Amino acid sequence: MIAGILRETGSEKRVAILPGEVIVLEKMGIEVLVERGAGERAFAADSSYIDAGAVILERKEIIDRAEMLLSVNPPLNDDISSFRAGQVLCSVLNPVENRLWIEKARVKGLTVLALDLIPRTTRAQSMDILSSMATVSGYKAVIEAASLLPRFFPMFMSAAGTIKPAKVLILGAGVAGLQAIAIARKLGAVVEVFDVRSAVKEEVKSLGGKFVEVEGAKEDTAAGGYAVEQSEEFKKKQQELIQQRAIAADVVIATAQIPGRKAPVLLMKETVAAMKPGSVIVDLAASSGGNCEVTENGKNIVFNGVNVIGKSDYPSDMPSDASKMFGCNIINLLKIMVSTDGKLMLNMQDEIINGTAAVSGNEYISQRIRQMLNIN
Ligand code: NAD
Repeated sequence: MIAGILRETGSEKRVAILPGEVIVLEKMGIEVLVERGAGERAFAADSSYIDAGAVILERKEIIDRAEMLLSVNPPLNDDISSFRAGQVLCSVLNPVENRLWIEKARVKGLTVLALDLIPRTTRAQSMDILSSMATVSGYKAVIEAASLLPRFFPMFMSAAGTIKPAKVLILGAGVAGLQAIAIARKLGAVVEVFDVRSAVKEEVKSLGGKFVEVEGAKEDTAAGGYAVEQSEEFKKKQQELIQQRAIAADVVIATAQIPGRKAPVLLMKETVAAMKPGSVIVDLAASSGGNCEVTENGKNIVFNGVNVIGKSDYPSDMPSDASKMFGCNIINLLKIMVSTDGKLMLNMQDEIINGTAAVSGNEYISQRIRQMLNIN
């Protein structure tokens, strides 16, 4: 197979495959073409790709020659006309935001593998890009909060007096939230956590966080381990309890999400107004509406003396390790779709390939994308 690595556009700094992973692909019998400058913003020069065995080409030549195109974000709208039926595109897709793009790809006869649709199963764990990127976000959110906070995170007993540890409140204990708990605890903070899934209670405790339970949470096994929309009564109770804890906190890291829906609003304007000046809120759910009512996506604002950071793209700010993890996940996915002599073999009966294929052969394939886009 010939794989092409595309250069990202806009503010994205990551690259789908770094030179270290090119070596692995070549060993799998895959020929790798890399668009000129693709790794530049992730500190990988074209010369490192050449040393790893890749060929550097311009975008058009790559689109002409590659059977599979790999990128972090979906290729541009303008590229679609240059692709040919049967070509495979593999990237994160954000299906709800990109439904028109997906429809164009379907009509064109492209196969689109959506890395954000990879099933969250044990077998697919090593391919789980959402988990790797959430790990980066959880880590970076705590580091950013610690650097903005006008206080220490750890407790100090010194000749200059005793410093109390910072209090960190974490909303949502999925992958990003659990990572945030671990890092905040490593830095010495006291950590409290809210989630609607009772299954995370033990994980929170084992990382040294205190789980704050709100009774009456709705859980649904059909949601595949994800959270579901809560009742109005529960939301009210939860907002009140969050308000109590947020007022006492120095930092809030908000990570709560419901797949395919707007993020739940957990931190009301009045709550932020009642928080201590100098406190920091990092809202990782910003791009899907935010967990905090005053969040503005992509902006750092100060509201009544509280810093509110609306940021969902931390992985792009840590492009070296984020790209490394991204590339490793892709390689693990390719291992189930490439034969020992390097040929691409897409077995649509395989539950991972079937779940990840958004469209192929002019059809919508993945059951999840059909649900998300309401396609019968
Ligand atoms: P996510 O980003 O969808 O949501 C983050 C967290 O927010 C979740 O824990 C969710 O329960 C919580 N949340 C949603 N609404 C909330 C509310 N109103 N109040 C408080 N919290 C709320 O989650 P994720 O990090 O993508 O993980 C989702 C699930 O997938 C988890 O069960 C996780 O264990 C599972 N998972 C499985 C695998 C695997 O087996 N391969 C890998 C990663 C994650």
